[in-house]
Amino acid sequence: MTTIVVIGAGFGGIAAAAELIKDSRNDVTILEKADRIGGVWRDNTYPGCACDIPAPLYSYSFAQNPAWSRRYPPHREILDYLERCATQHGITGRIRFGTEVTGADWDGRRWTVTLAGGERIEADVLIPAVGQLSRPSIPSLPGAADFRGVALHTAHWRPDVPVDGRRIAVIGTGASAIQLVPAIAGRAAHVTVFQRTPPWTLPKPDRRYGRLRHGAYRRVPPLMQASRAGTWLLTLVAGAAVTGNRVTAPLVRAASHLQRRLQVRDPRLRARVTPDEPMGCKRILFTNAWYPALARPDVDLVTEKIVAVTEDGIRTADGVDHPCDVLVYGTGFAATEFLVPMRITGRDGAELAEAWREGAHAYLGMTVPGFPNMFLVYGPNTNTGNTSVIYFHEVQARYIAQAVRLVAQGDRPLEVRAERAATYDAEMQSRLAGSVWTGCQSWYRTASGRVVTNWPGKAQEYRRRAARVDRSDFR
Ligand code: NAP
Repeated sequence: MTTIVVIGAGFGGIAAAAELIKDSRNDVTILEKADRIGGVWRDNTYPGCACDIPAPLYSYSFAQNPAWSRRYPPHREILDYLERCATQHGITGRIRFGTEVTGADWDGRRWTVTLAGGERIEADVLIPAVGQLSRPSIPSLPGAADFRGVALHTAHWRPDVPVDGRRIAVIGTGASAIQLVPAIAGRAAHVTVFQRTPPWTLPKPDRRYGRLRHGAYRRVPPLMQASRAGTWLLTLVAGAAVTGNRVTAPLVRAASHLQRRLQVRDPRLRARVTPDEPMGCKRILFTNAWYPALARPDVDLVTEKIVAVTEDGIRTADGVDHPCDVLVYGTGFAATEFLVPMRITGRDGAELAEAWREGAHAYLGMTVPGFPNMFLVYGPNTNTGNTSVIYFHEVQARYIAQAVRLVAQGDRPLEVRAERAATYDAEMQSRLAGSVWTGCQSWYRTASGRVVTNWPGKAQEYRRRAARVDRSDFR
């Protein structure tokens, strides 16, 4: 038996477990610190939360769902889908909920995983699958502790957060905020949106999926694959635009400008929401509701710099106080700090945090020299801004299952060669150096500017390169 510990029961962890349990010689346990499955789809419950990648692609290839209510379903439906997948694939019973991992140590033969209560679990293989967007980032603003209202991050929304008839301030205009604001505008007495940088947007081609489509998908499942393939083609076009394709980039840019021209009648407001950063250096946001929400009389857009939080609201650099009852931080995540706050110690006592001091890196985003039999899901440089990360998770799951077979067959642990990993990392960074993602600061980059989250090429290149484990990559 090969004992395997997967950390995290989000889309990545479930994908890995689904692949690994196909082999009855694998003994898989998933450790999940929360009390239910879901990762970001469990954590993010703010009003309006939905996926901005169409569901036929933002789902497992091995578990296509004929019943999606629409092309971009709300978060609740995605969470239900993931829970159903875990149950149907026999994974739920292998999850230990309420189990937080604080660290893991390699003893030369196996991993010892330490839990928050002090318990230790031994495993042959360690698979951290904790995602890139699991740790909210809240700026430290002077006076924040003195605020007398309710202050919270979008990823920590609670059903009892007062919205109706309240004055709500939202800091940030990223993917989370642009979903939240239209959903609360009209319910709240007033919404004040604090924008530091206007985002690039595109219309969201959303549509309801009716009974005819559901019936057709049930009766002819290949139709679902066709829809998935169509979505895939669209993401290829979007991806090419982001990476500077000379035909699609101007078209996508024009579509974004046209959306603002049509949806924002007031030229002064339009000027303030027109992006000035290179298109694609941050995620392009799909929305039909953002600009109409900003144009409402009960919604204000503030572009002055925030200088402090007061007892009653937010103060900006022009000396204006913006009172609010609820202060929402739509300020994103500490995405570049992979696996923090866990402490991982590899061969000869090497600390993963130290190995990643200049920025996280891993061969194929999965393996790190000095850390044998450890394989990351959704690790460094495996994020995509334009297609589905679940596609990457599945590629990783298949690679890891092959690697685990090699571990089981051999008498030696599997550790990637340092020179192979270094060459790969140099390639990643040289390709990323000229990429659009260096055009602005975002959650893709460390403070020093290294792009640690994103894959530089097309998704199919990643699939090709990670399709087979090459034994010569390992010591
Ligand atoms: P984000 O994209 O990082 O956006 C954070 C926002 O907060 C930005 O507008 C940022 O401004 C602003 N901000 C941060 N610190 C600030 C400060 N001190 N003062 C003023 N403004 C500040 O975070 P997010 O919106 O939570 O989205 C993160 C990622 O989650 C997305 O890129 C996406 O991958 C994922 N997501 C996906 C969906 C989906 O539909 N699939 C939905 C939500 C989130 P600057 O731009 O100036 O930095």
